Amino acid sequence: MREFAFARAATVDDAVAAPDGAMFLAGGTTLVDLMKLGVLRPRVVMDINALPLREITLDEAGLTVGAGARMSDLATHPDAVRAFPLVVQALLAGASQQIRNMASIGGNLMQRTRCGYYRDPGSACNRRDPGGGCAALDGANRTHAVLGTSPSCVATHPGDLAVALTALDATVRIAGRGGERDLPLAAFYRVPGGTPHIENALGPGELITAVHVPFADGHSAYVKVRDRASYEFALASAAVLLRVREGVIAAARVAVGGVATVPWRLPAVEAALTGLPATPGGFDGAAARAAEGARALAHNGYKIPLLRNTVLRAVEEALAR
Ligand code: FAD
Ligand code: SF4
Repeated sequence: MREFAFARAATVDDAVAAPDGAMFLAGGTTLVDLMKLGVLRPRVVMDINALPLREITLDEAGLTVGAGARMSDLATHPDAVRAFPLVVQALLAGASQQIRNMASIGGNLMQRTRCGYYRDPGSACNRRDPGGGCAALDGANRTHAVLGTSPSCVATHPGDLAVALTALDATVRIAGRGGERDLPLAAFYRVPGGTPHIENALGPGELITAVHVPFADGHSAYVKVRDRASYEFALASAAVLLRVREGVIAAARVAVGGVATVPWRLPAVEAALTGLPATPGGFDGAAARAAEGARALAHNGYKIPLLRNTVLRAVEEALAR
């Protein structure tokens, strides 16, 4: 591991004044892992755990979650359990209880891809080493993305919570040296294009301070399909929220994970679901639209039918609740 300086931020202003090249330390469950592997090599590690960013509050606009709140804090918070079951379901589908106790909401949104080549400094990887090439294109790409890919990078965004928050139109509050700004989560993540090393909209020194989830009523479900039933990342996941009026789907929100380079909203599926009777069956045509624009690599073609089926199952599970 490369030598680094360690500092503790007492205030948000301290944190955002960290020198360029510094990285924030929250739960450390991604950062420390990747530093040990030599993938992330910050000059300064800035501990943000003393910042007053752990509050979870509910008001008439929705739920606001401090970026330092732990995944388990949010998953068990009475307001989240009562009013945001989609968020809770996605959180509990991720990692393990021990990791959820350590891992923060801000760190969760900032977690890195699980592409094996990214995590191996001996392999070519444009995301870790811009211009270095992409070993996954002709390599072991069974778990890689079919949506949002580019010739530079085909890695998936691995998170669960971000998929639910994308469906719920959440925003992130970001503090920087020039003040604060709010950004829809949908605009936070960047598809790789020709610059896969630029993963999100954060500028130098910027810190996520909170996530806001607006109220949205309806039937919801988060479905996650993976190689084993727990402690595993998604091969495909779907977050669905359906508003039903007089037996008809009046509005639909659908986002998917495990199949795309960023949490991926599916407006074509949402439009196709809207107006359908809210009774079991009859959703295959709408779910089929999930794979529009998908492109398979040598070993991940199975993800295209899996994506459709995961969306279908999430729609049916949501309506059954
Ligand atoms: P840290 O490791 O402290 O930080 C991670 C990154 O975020 C760093 O770059 C750090 O600088 C940055 N950062 C942290 N806080 C902020 C902030 N407030 N503003 C800006 N940048 C910030 N996740 C899932 O979603 N689903 C899973 O199934 C899943 N399984 C896992 C299994 C294992 C074995 C492990 C190790 C992790 C798994 N995870 C999973 C990922 C886990 O959820 C993340 O590691 C965790 O949420 C990161 O949070 P943290 O507080 O530990 O972040
Ligand atoms: Fe790196 Fe992306 Fe290629 Fe994986 S898919 S090796 S993260 S460039």
